Amino acid sequence: MSTELSLLINGDKVAGQDAAFDVINPATEAAIASGRMASVEQLDLAVAAARQAFQSWRKTTDAERTALLHRIADTIEANADELARIIVQEQGKPLFLAQMEVGGAVAWTRYNADLEIPVKLIEDSEHKRIEGHRKPLGVVASITPWNWPLMIAIWHIIPALRTGNTVVCKPSGLTPLNTLRLVEIINEVLPAGVVNLVTGEREIGEAISRHTGIDKVIFTGSTPTGQAIMANAAGNLKRLTLELGGNDAAIVLPGTDVDAVAEGIFQTAFLNMGQTCAALKRLYVHDSLYDALCTKLAEIANAQVVGDGLAEGTSFGPVQNANQFRRVCELVEDAKVQGGSILSGGAPVDGKGYFYPPTIVADVSNGVRLVDEEQFGPVLPVIRYQDIDEAIRLANDCPFGLGGSVWGPDLDQANDVARQLECGTVWINGHAEVLPHAPFGGCKLSGVGVEFGVEGLLEYTQLQVVNINR
Ligand code: NAD
Repeated sequence: MSTELSLLINGDKVAGQDAAFDVINPATEAAIASGRMASVEQLDLAVAAARQAFQSWRKTTDAERTALLHRIADTIEANADELARIIVQEQGKPLFLAQMEVGGAVAWTRYNADLEIPVKLIEDSEHKRIEGHRKPLGVVASITPWNWPLMIAIWHIIPALRTGNTVVCKPSGLTPLNTLRLVEIINEVLPAGVVNLVTGEREIGEAISRHTGIDKVIFTGSTPTGQAIMANAAGNLKRLTLELGGNDAAIVLPGTDVDAVAEGIFQTAFLNMGQTCAALKRLYVHDSLYDALCTKLAEIANAQVVGDGLAEGTSFGPVQNANQFRRVCELVEDAKVQGGSILSGGAPVDGKGYFYPPTIVADVSNGVRLVDEEQFGPVLPVIRYQDIDEAIRLANDCPFGLGGSVWGPDLDQANDVARQLECGTVWINGHAEVLPHAPFGGCKLSGVGVEFGVEGLLEYTQLQVVNINR
């Protein structure tokens, strides 16, 4: 792997001119690449290149853009193995998950390539015709987190391109290598300046949010950062899509077959070592099933093979970074003090790497930090309830509203409970499943707007009404 990390501006790889930083492999704590962050002047150059490229990119036809996006998907596929290995080394996830991430990136690219941008017929009468057309916004900035870095970059970049915008992206400083490789791949297919990349963290993120040459920010990350972006973006009334934090509740109804649901609950809670925005993060279980489900979940957790994502047989990788690792340790220690029972894991693995085994914590409820806060790591609190209305109240007693789920054999009852949960997506007998054709977004402090499907695509456009008197 290259040890030099660069920016990509107007088709050229250039070194950053601001502070130096290293990219760390979370399995070994060793630096695997180093580079410099972009200066604000370099951001200006990237935005200028994107603005210039917009003049011709906006004029490409739908058919041309569809064909080019499929070529990008082909090129990602041709480089899939390299991309997956980069993801494992900087993000930590096991290789099979990284391969899934690359596969998802290809699928999302192809789906968006083929989406039609609708023209809405608003009136068609004898003397008048009114049409609603969708126009690109201009320059879109993408700011991404470190958990699913390639997939989320694709979620941002591809719909922006499909609708005729140009892009400046800024990956997380913790996982920039895969996105840089992706942008190189995209630049093999598209004209220079259509997609650019700058590195950096908060300072460059704030400069992006304030930049008057940028028309929209698509951001995935934490709620406090989303709030800062919204405040900083007011100057030129940037369009915003904000996909923010979550603390998804799941309710297991009485009568549920514990053996049938345990694996699904475990996998969707611990997906990507729990570092998934819409992972199941609080599990409310009816008293009649509580002990049996806790025992089963602990069994599944204890069977995981924790290790380096590139090692044969690893099913569970490290936490991505030192801060997140410390936070998980802190929340579990606090839960222990608050009377929580540790049924699996419960302490970091000795030695190098940010390894924390999958941890099931019973005998906690709302009011304990592990339940109230987004843990974003490999630990699941399990909460006992007696009465379904109480479970719904506890589930909704949360500032976030990204996802939620209900598990049980009676679909009518599950549906009734599901409709009472305050969240953007609610799953029944499942969780954390995102699909290219199903709009996804949060309510409350989990975000503004949606991604995916036609609704997601239209967030990259401005409606222009054409009112024709004939
Ligand atoms: P983060 O908010 O710390 O960082 C995200 C990105 O924002 C990084 O690229 C970072 O450099 C940049 N940034 C930092 N400060 C900034 C500022 N002031 N202005 C502009 N940009 C700034 O989030 P993270 O720790 O990387 O990711 C974890 C969080 O992301 C969790 O809360 C998780 O729930 C959330 N997330 C949400 C979704 C979703 O779809 N809703 C998906 C994945 C992750």
